[in-house]
Amino acid sequence: MKFGGTSVTDAEAIRIVAEIVKSSIRSHPVVVVSAIAGFTNSLIASVDKAVAGDARTASKSLEAEFERHLAIAGELLKGERRAAYVSVAADARAKIRQLHKIIAAHPVTSPPLQDEIVAYGEHLSSQLVTAVLCEQGIPALHVDARRCIKTDDNYGNATPQPETAAAVRAEARFIIDSKKVPVLGGFIGSTARGVTTTLGRGGSDYTAAIVGAALDAREIQIWTDVSGVLTADPRLVANARTIPILSYHEAAELAYFGAKVLHPKTIQPAIDQSIPVRVCNSRAPRDAGTLIVAESESTPQTIKAIAHKNGVTTVQVTSARMLGAYGFLRALFEVFDRHKTAVDVVTTSEVSVSLSIDDARTMPDLIPDLEQLGTVEVEENRTIISVVGEGLRNTPGIAARVFSVISDINVSMISVGASSVNLTFMVDEEHAAEAITRLHRVCFEDSAVTEKRARVTA
Ligand code: ASP
Ligand code: MG
Repeated sequence: MKFGGTSVTDAEAIRIVAEIVKSSIRSHPVVVVSAIAGFTNSLIASVDKAVAGDARTASKSLEAEFERHLAIAGELLKGERRAAYVSVAADARAKIRQLHKIIAAHPVTSPPLQDEIVAYGEHLSSQLVTAVLCEQGIPALHVDARRCIKTDDNYGNATPQPETAAAVRAEARFIIDSKKVPVLGGFIGSTARGVTTTLGRGGSDYTAAIVGAALDAREIQIWTDVSGVLTADPRLVANARTIPILSYHEAAELAYFGAKVLHPKTIQPAIDQSIPVRVCNSRAPRDAGTLIVAESESTPQTIKAIAHKNGVTTVQVTSARMLGAYGFLRALFEVFDRHKTAVDVVTTSEVSVSLSIDDARTMPDLIPDLEQLGTVEVEENRTIISVVGEGLRNTPGIAARVFSVISDINVSMISVGASSVNLTFMVDEEHAAEAITRLHRVCFEDSAVTEKRARVTA
């Protein structure tokens, strides 16, 4: 059970976490927690201040965050437990202050020391959650994740190494067998030599998947502040709703195209072992959330969700030289390779290729090279819309349905069939909200309306 930053952000949130864990106690849970919301950002910002030479300001900038931890402890812990936590927090504060001073004096040391500092986020939240669980009568034991999540030394974005699984089992099995709940901080690990590392932003989900896979868990639960994966971005579509079940494949496709719920990399360990991943809402623990599994049945209307990504640039390269020639695509992609620019969607015709890129910073350098190959046209402020659903490729009429709904909006770069689960196209950013709202209405809302009517008549 992984609880994200917003699920442990204050006393009320952590009290709910304890309830959720308690209600699952018979399933022998392992708890993974993120730093309390916002703390990782503050810790990173404090390192920047130290690098700039001002250790005092760096340390001072974290005071409010320490107070938040102490306030939670004050509200949820008593007596010895509270005193013990207050001293854990005081130690952390002193160590961080020391580290800030070292960084200010020797800024080159910052990558490993930054991880050392940032890791206190998860260290403090996991100690706090452990203490609160104990206080609520749940037998919990803190495990320092750095003892078992073994990584390379790519500070800030370290990769867990194969020996991690055995190390997790060695730490956690005994605790679970003795009917206790292991609690560990997500996102943090250490190198073979014991130097602290972090797994990259949002890495607690990754920790949860690694731990779940190592222990062959029945399910990996990601507790957050939304009720699972939604049918569309709720900021655009007021009626967006939870998708009950998704395949790994669909979930990954959604993540690529902007749904922010789970990074595909983070659930890879779960995928490798076919462990279901459930996304739940700690603010509404009774909501079913979304279950992500190896195979999801295709729903009747086949469309599961509409994802989108704004701020995309498209590039079209047209050249008569392409006609009947070979080697052109290779030459084209070599240009992107040389400029280290990632391409998302590609469509081709006999004499032209269109590509989309979401980071256009290299464009000024890229374009002259592309012009060597043909005429180049660039369009900015585009939106990729991706309609996702398992079995979409084999269902007749989907494309007709999608495009008839938005027949008055100009669509380009239609791509279907490259993956069996999505239909992707591009519109101008200014029309994206309208297109998505309409698609959502016909795909999800109209049938709900009909259902409701049917129920009322019945
Ligand atoms: N606390 C870390 C972050 O904010 C890891 C996580 O929340 O998953 O990136
Ligand atoms: Mg997070």
